[in-house]
Amino acid sequence: MPPISDRTRLISGATRRGRGRRPVNPPLERASTMLSDDPARMQDGSDGPVYGLDGTSAARELRAVLTQLEGGADAFLVPSGLAAVTVPLTALLRPGDEVLTTDAVYGPTRRFMTRHLAARGIDARFHPAAASTEAILAALTPRTRVLLIEAPASLSFEMTDVPALAAACRERGVLTVMDNTWGAGLAFRPLAHDVDVSAQALTKYVGGHSDLLMGGISARAPDVVRAIAHTVEDMGWHVSPDDAWLALRGVRTLPLRYEAQARSALEIARWLNARPEVAEVLYPPLPGAVGHDLWRRDFDGAASLMGVVMKGGDTAAAHAFMRALSLFGMGYSWGGFESLITHETPQLAHRQHAPDLPGQLLRLHIGLEDPGDLIADLETGLKAWRAQQDSNLQPPA
Ligand SMILES: *Cc1c(COP(=O)(O)O)cnc(C)c1O
Repeated sequence: MPPISDRTRLISGATRRGRGRRPVNPPLERASTMLSDDPARMQDGSDGPVYGLDGTSAARELRAVLTQLEGGADAFLVPSGLAAVTVPLTALLRPGDEVLTTDAVYGPTRRFMTRHLAARGIDARFHPAAASTEAILAALTPRTRVLLIEAPASLSFEMTDVPALAAACRERGVLTVMDNTWGAGLAFRPLAHDVDVSAQALTKYVGGHSDLLMGGISARAPDVVRAIAHTVEDMGWHVSPDDAWLALRGVRTLPLRYEAQARSALEIARWLNARPEVAEVLYPPLPGAVGHDLWRRDFDGAASLMGVVMKGGDTAAAHAFMRALSLFGMGYSWGGFESLITHETPQLAHRQHAPDLPGQLLRLHIGLEDPGDLIADLETGLKAWRAQQDSNLQPPA
């Protein structure tokens, strides 16, 4: 049989033959204790996991699906997307080491690096988000043990040349970890490009319904897999069977949702890009956008998350835009079925090298609604934005 697509593979895993009469989805097992019928088999574990911490049926199946999706040797589940990044960093770094990442790294990851890691003798360094491959490599020192990659980066959506960076790091003995939440294991496969660890927030597209928090970690090299396994085990990380069950339900429709949302996102990005109120749309799949060439070369698809840089404006105008919308929820996170909007200008203050944007930064997550309806809603938002701008121009009474 010719190789099958992700779309087929993620579903055919559920209908695999030879497992007897059973429901399509694994029964939901809630368990701390797992009972055995035989003391010998209980001791050698040949009946399967003997304790809930070792994973119930849905978690085991989800791990297998994630291993296959990311092309790893194994995959691990942790309680949040944030933990999917902090666990490999904890596993791979020792006191005295240095970790380098982009200044545009996901905010809570930055906090983990500057607070938790720093307190344990591990220095975090941040390179400018738009740094070239050469500049990033030049920033590595003999103490740099790990390079953490995020592409596109959070909020400002800069792209990096992941294959070139990962290959150069491997040559120098620097380990690479990539936060692959945007790529979701569909649009980009870090492990196939020499990256050592692929982490993603399953909270986002895999869950897909804004009803769970979970992280997935995948790796290929035996020593890296072992280091992560030991950290997960030693720290006692675990995900609830209910959440694993929901994530497994989500993963069956992941490619369809991801592609449909990307199609809508591109249509909306094009529309916004042509609007006089908008200075720039930060969305690598958009032709002409920053990072488009690298995205086209390396990615097979796209997430539906974008930055919208307005022409000027202030907080009042950004809030007026957001209040005027009726179809976009005001909320953090992304990857669910619903469209969301956030005002991101305040978050940029945490950066060392903040991007020089000509106006307010909004972030849109495009969901599964009809894109025509979303565009009509955004039109209303832009009208409110203009009204607020005009009221700023009125002389005081
Ligand atoms: C949301 C997000 C995370 C964290 O996921 P949680 O499940 O919310 O902890 C990590 N990285 C990126 C890029 C994210 O957007």
